[in-house]
Amino acid sequence: MLDFVYAALPVKVVFAKRAVRERLPELLDELGAQRLLLVVSPAEQALACELVTPFTGRIAGAFTEVRPHVPVEVAEQARAVAASVDADAILSIGGGSTTGTAKAIALTTGLPVIAVPTTYAGSEVTPVWGLTENGRKTTGRDPRVLPRVVVYDPELTVSLPAQLSAVSGLNALAHCIEAFWGPGANPVTSLIAEEGIRALSRGLPAVVEQPADLDARAQALYGAWLAGTAFATAGSGLHHKVCHVLGGAYDLPHAETHAIVLPHATALVAPAVPGVNARVATALGAPSGTDAGDALAALSSDLGAPTALREIGLEEAQLPEATRLVAEQAPAQPGDVGLPEIEALLRAAWRGDRPSTTARSNA
Ligand code: NAD
Repeated sequence: MLDFVYAALPVKVVFAKRAVRERLPELLDELGAQRLLLVVSPAEQALACELVTPFTGRIAGAFTEVRPHVPVEVAEQARAVAASVDADAILSIGGGSTTGTAKAIALTTGLPVIAVPTTYAGSEVTPVWGLTENGRKTTGRDPRVLPRVVVYDPELTVSLPAQLSAVSGLNALAHCIEAFWGPGANPVTSLIAEEGIRALSRGLPAVVEQPADLDARAQALYGAWLAGTAFATAGSGLHHKVCHVLGGAYDLPHAETHAIVLPHATALVAPAVPGVNARVATALGAPSGTDAGDALAALSSDLGAPTALREIGLEEAQLPEATRLVAEQAPAQPGDVGLPEIEALLRAAWRGDRPSTTARSNA
């Protein structure tokens, strides 16, 4: 029986080639933004300077000390710069770390954020913030951090190297897949997630093959938007918790960890959610009867993404502690997921096993 709550999030999304250059000034007018704080990482600074040329007069200041996972001291510096230039809005140009820095300013100031994403992280359409202190990452939801306007321009993602595009895109796929069983999942988030999977699984292989192919870039970016949108409402589950714990405790790279863990978490959980295993596999374009976890592993390997946690710096001796940390924080999950299943999942992801084989040996 259908029984759900759906709350649409108020983000204006503009998606077009050259949208930043041609449409951003009118979007700033609509918001009444006159004194922008530009937030950008050093690597994207040259691109950002070129993009803001048509409205340089509205840039009141810039914050460029972006760091992964937004350390609290960086958030404080960024807030101080926003106050010192009397900013009335924040313009973020970059990946999830840059968007996260803009969100950290909005969290305490309430300043509106205009986000221009350059990766497939999807943070720009979620009300989720993250801050790191003493090696521990804390996340939370707050409507103030949800960007008011997001401008997607596929041209800005062409410079994202193939390997980074692949893992960033697999991070987006993780948002889509967990949206099927997240705590706020509903029929609308599942539809959005399904279309996100289709777009990403079409776009990513073409991006990796030909990084300058703008149609492929547009498909992947469209999928990333859908992924973030589904995730923003549905929330996340075991997979995101595993990645969060591994990233925080062992400093593993964010997108790569998602890419490796996703097939295993999917093989474990998807079969426990009626209809989802086949729905995900079909959206991925896999032959009928393929398990969703195996279809994801095949896509990951086609994209040349890493497939084992041991390849990205996790030591075998760390597995027992990692298992305990995940089990302590694991959210309620469809299916029977306890300590033995988490241990088997981590071990399989560490070795890089075929996902469905491990999931069945757990059963
Ligand atoms: P990132 O922002 O750290 O960027 C990764 C690298 O890509 C950086 O070196 C950056 O300089 C480079 N880069 C970015 N755009 C580029 C481009 N177009 N061309 C060339 N290089 C480019 O990483 P990310 O994967 O985008 O974001 C990860 C962060 O986002 C994590 O902290 C994660 O927790 C967070 N995140 C948050 C949410 C949320 O809802 N709050 C959702 C997803 C991710």
